[in-house]
Amino acid sequence: MREIVAAALSNEAGEGDFLALEVPESYRGAVVLKEETSMFEGMASVDKDPRKSIHIQDVPTPEPGPGEALIAVMSSAINYNTVWSSIFEPLPTFAFLERYARSGPTAAHHDQPFHVLGSDLSGVVLRTGPGVSRWKAGDRVVAHCLSVELESPDGHDDTMLDPEQRIWGYETNYGGLAELALVKANQLMPKPGHLTWEEAAASGLVNSTAYRQLVSRNGAGMKQGDVVLIWGAGGGVGSYATQLALNGGAVPVCVVSNEHKADLVRSMGAELIIDRAAAGYRFWKDERTQDPSEWRRFGADIRELTGGVDPDIVVEHPGRETFGASVFVARRGGTVVTCASTSGFQHEFDNRYLWMKLKRIVGTHFANYREAWEANQLIARGMIHPTLSRVFPLADTGEAADAVRRNTHSGKVGVLCLAPGEGYGVQDAALRERHLGAINRFRTHQ
Ligand code: NAP
Repeated sequence: MREIVAAALSNEAGEGDFLALEVPESYRGAVVLKEETSMFEGMASVDKDPRKSIHIQDVPTPEPGPGEALIAVMSSAINYNTVWSSIFEPLPTFAFLERYARSGPTAAHHDQPFHVLGSDLSGVVLRTGPGVSRWKAGDRVVAHCLSVELESPDGHDDTMLDPEQRIWGYETNYGGLAELALVKANQLMPKPGHLTWEEAAASGLVNSTAYRQLVSRNGAGMKQGDVVLIWGAGGGVGSYATQLALNGGAVPVCVVSNEHKADLVRSMGAELIIDRAAAGYRFWKDERTQDPSEWRRFGADIRELTGGVDPDIVVEHPGRETFGASVFVARRGGTVVTCASTSGFQHEFDNRYLWMKLKRIVGTHFANYREAWEANQLIARGMIHPTLSRVFPLADTGEAADAVRRNTHSGKVGVLCLAPGEGYGVQDAALRERHLGAINRFRTHQ
């Protein structure tokens, strides 16, 4: 592995140098184990601790099959799906791996007693499988997390509609929180040259998700001047949604829960900020009953900031706790666009506010390759910046996932895999210099 790291750290090392390197038979990865899926049974979700379920262990190196690539992972990041995998909610991910393995012989090796987690990476292509022509050993890359087979006609307008669509590192094995990773070659994108390995790995999943959710015509189709209410604006999806709104000439109304996150979105240029903790909204009187007067109080607070304008778009992901309020505060004809249900997936809302006011609820999920590529281009051009706060070594992946589970982080949490420390991997120093102010500003909010 030492030679691989040395080659990856040298900007001069090319295809021949990487092909000359031996691929190790095994590598270290952050895994959950099939034999431990009932370890938290009977516990409340808040007590389920990723530090207990995520292990760092050696796993055998998979052979890249047709259309696949083996990547030397320099850095990765924690996404909320790693939290779900590690607490085995809403169900253990091994069921996904078993189903994938049954789909055909080239996928059989995904069903293992371990699941290597992680849906983001920056790194270098080590080997490619048969049929890969666009990418070669030595390419510096990031990977988006959409894995598709595209054998059905259904996926050919929008690859997210492929019936064999999976999230790599969540519904497939050999994810990015490891020294090596196996991806489909059509997950690869050029690494933004001005970023370090850990910065480059931070954005992929959440930036692409926010791009489809907010900007793409498959999502809300945001336009200039739209007022966009963004829940969790200082978190993963939200910190990119906020930047995309500002970059696209919209007006974000950022909901956060503390001053650190308020500072982060302020440093991006957001001016309209609601601290939900300070406001103390209680949308639910008890577990079964919502309180419309709290929706109204929230709506009045938004109007106070916007000069009386209701949100054209609401970027939803907290789910059960906030969904009723989101439907209520969206403007007549507005769109609530949802990609998740962190606080519970059984949503309740008053349908009168939806149909009488001609609002729409749109479901989105990750992004197709085209959308992920466009989102990555915004990063590569320095129009959107990574919102990395803390960075952990691979050995502390459990700790890193726990920080996200407890919502003590802001923006993104990074994990160094083969990178020997922070700060390596910049290829385009001039572009970095141009954007250093914003890059550093967004990184200082822990
Ligand atoms: P994150 O980094 O933890 O950020 C989520 C933010 O939501 C937090 O910072 C928090 O902000 C806010 N939040 C959490 N619980 C809340 C509640 N009950 N009410 C109001 N706000 C709440 O996570 P993320 O990466 O942004 O992901 C958010 C959700 O989207 C997760 O469930 C994740 O699995 C999902 N997701 C889905 C996709 C997809 O493709 N479908 C892709 C990415 C993420 P404050 O405390 O500051 O308000």
